[in-house]
Amino acid sequence: MKSYGYGERNGKTYSKLRTLSGACVGRDTCRLTYTDSERFEPELIDELENLGWGDMAESIGVTGCERQCFRPGTKTIGLVGSGMDRYMFKLFGDETARFQGKPLMTSDGEQMYLRSIPRADVITVINVLFKFYKENAKTGEGMGEYHRRIGAGAIIAHLKENPATTALLQKPFPADCVME
Ligand code: SF4
Repeated sequence: MKSYGYGERNGKTYSKLRTLSGACVGRDTCRLTYTDSERFEPELIDELENLGWGDMAESIGVTGCERQCFRPGTKTIGLVGSGMDRYMFKLFGDETARFQGKPLMTSDGEQMYLRSIPRADVITVINVLFKFYKENAKTGEGMGEYHRRIGAGAIIAHLKENPATTALLQKPFPADCVME
């Protein structure tokens, strides 16, 4: 496996974040996909590593469409292809599968956010979510655990207040757009 390059990327051993993350095949293998999930995921991790997040013991799961073959709901952050190179975020999950990730909905269940984020903006949202978690979580608290404790309302409020993500939160989707 090592002779074929497994375990290393760009001359460096896989980071913790990369080891825990993954994607479905997406384009060009699967004709059902909207996105290039398999190629996007390593590039996304490259960018997150460059921002200093490689040591995060958290996971990101990417799928090219709503069939969700990679099971992004079992990751801390799930990205579900929701249109041409667009992704819906799933939060609140973890790898034990005891808690399944779900879309970011208001507590009354009327509106959802992060339903159709362009590929180029996914890194911005994750960077804000990672910082929010790192600055506020209790010692030893995982990201999914932190999100479940503070709830969707606090996450939505933070993303709306943060200048980097304000614009991405301006147009919520009606609840019937949810992809479970
Ligand atoms: S999640 Fe969608 S794009 Fe990915 S392998 Fe399954 S059917 Fe194909």
